[in-house]
Amino acid sequence: MYKTHTCGELRLSDAGETVTLAGWVHRRRDHGGVTFIDLRDRYGIVQVVANPENSPQAHQAATDVRAEWVIQVTGTVRRRPEGMENPNLATGEIEVDVEELKVLNPAKQPPFLINKEEEVEEQVRLRYRYLDLRRERMRSNLILRHRAVKFIRDYLDARGFLEIETPILFKTTPEGARDYLVPSRVHPGEFYALPQSPQQLKQLLMVAGVERYFQIARCFRDEDARGDRQPEFTQLDLEMSFVHREDVMALTEDLFTKLIAAVVPEKRLLSTPWPRLRYQEAMERFGKDNPDLRFGMELTDISDLAEGSGFKVFESVVASGGHVRGLNASGLGDYSRRQIDELTEYVAQFGAKGLAYLAYTEDGEMRSSFAKFLAPETVSAIQDRMQAKPGDLLLFVAHRPEVVYEALGRLRVELADRLGLRDPDILAFCWIIDFPFVVWNEEENRWDPSHHLFTAPMPEDAALLDSDPGRARGQQYDMVVNDYEVGGGSIRIHDRELQEKVFELIGLDPEVARQRFGHMLEAFEYGTPPHGGIAPGIDRIVMILAGEPNIREVMAFPKNQAARDVMADAPSPVEPEQLRELHIQVLDKKKD
Ligand code: ASP
Repeated sequence: MYKTHTCGELRLSDAGETVTLAGWVHRRRDHGGVTFIDLRDRYGIVQVVANPENSPQAHQAATDVRAEWVIQVTGTVRRRPEGMENPNLATGEIEVDVEELKVLNPAKQPPFLINKEEEVEEQVRLRYRYLDLRRERMRSNLILRHRAVKFIRDYLDARGFLEIETPILFKTTPEGARDYLVPSRVHPGEFYALPQSPQQLKQLLMVAGVERYFQIARCFRDEDARGDRQPEFTQLDLEMSFVHREDVMALTEDLFTKLIAAVVPEKRLLSTPWPRLRYQEAMERFGKDNPDLRFGMELTDISDLAEGSGFKVFESVVASGGHVRGLNASGLGDYSRRQIDELTEYVAQFGAKGLAYLAYTEDGEMRSSFAKFLAPETVSAIQDRMQAKPGDLLLFVAHRPEVVYEALGRLRVELADRLGLRDPDILAFCWIIDFPFVVWNEEENRWDPSHHLFTAPMPEDAALLDSDPGRARGQQYDMVVNDYEVGGGSIRIHDRELQEKVFELIGLDPEVARQRFGHMLEAFEYGTPPHGGIAPGIDRIVMILAGEPNIREVMAFPKNQAARDVMADAPSPVEPEQLRELHIQVLDKKKD
């Protein structure tokens, strides 16, 4: 080994020891003829002192080195002089008096500082990801991710789960996105699909009698670059046999509750057990099925008061089956007209045509965009229902229910950010259950599964699949924390007939269904146990635990937002010969 100790482990009790260390020059400064180097490795930083009186060689070498050079030093550990201790450093009570310094590898000047947390353009960070990962923030994210995954493995192993790898080269395993396809050289014109999740494979493992499976599984989804998505990401994929939804939820809840206590003890769970919300209830109260429960500001339905209120905009929306709902942004009553206009623009992105308001100053004075059209009793009925008090700002959207939910659901979070109500140290987990089994797809004029093809309906709703599918609920459960859906799962169909019926319901041609999923249907005929599972997203959960704003920060080598690896430059053109071997011809080559 090039080192006897790491740069993070030396303490006062090591004083007097001769040690050899190796790492990167984090910082170098000359002071009164003596050179100080903060030497860094993965484990920490230690101060190394090169004094010309002790070792002219080491001192000369130390003056020559620059940031990020890789060096090896041998020297003696000693207590730092009185008053020179650094309480911010684990090794801050000691320093190493160098006798010998060897340069193992010099370094070019890095394109950004490694020794300082500063804003660096993300493209540059991704281009030099190996340097970016040297930075403290990234180093601790990698460590946190490792710890979380290790905890998961140990937890599940102790409960009889088997970790089983499933193929990456497979056949379409849809989760609602486009597949990544891999051409086969051996079978001209044929393609593998990369799994969007190991869904079918884990179910087949249940048919195989594994009973408890998990995998830290890579999933591939070819989606248009929007928001915080990556072409490949990692799930804790898990499946269990002979379980009801309660069993899967209980195990998952226990796993993550314990994981958080072990890995990020500074975070606090808002409630245990995790609250459960029916899908419909989540929509009505929070406008979304991934609510942030760290604060109130719930949506209030005033459609009944809007009806016949005299305010045309509200009345016509209600008459055509729409809703009028509002929320109370307590504390923003003195928002200016311009600030309210800004919020109106914000909700316009989600389809809201306007944002009606009632604003109360601290001394109870009211301003409103629409109160003048209403009878005073109606205004006070609205105030009462929304518990308005001085300093409050009541905001309303009138539209089709989906638009009202989306606009107010997003606005609620935006306002909470402005009001500082989203404490990153609080984790408000909850479960969303009782999802609709299918949702109507206007464009395609058919039902779509609200989860995926293999989710079972609630047993008591199975008959509705024939009579009124839109009212049937699925045995799906989503795991949500702080405005993020971090996992979803379900109890599966384990019966060929029911599976075929669902294929038919969602308009899958029986021949296509047989080609794509024949192996599943066939397997279901060989004694399939009742089973169910879940797949929490590792990237997203670690992102939240790390307090990072996007999943790229907790992935070692993510793609950029245009799905490109800017370090290795992928995707990239290949040799014509490779294409020929794959029986592929590129038709229209878009220039970047
Ligand atoms: N395969 C599902 C997903 O990727 C999760 C599950 O149903 O277990 O979302």
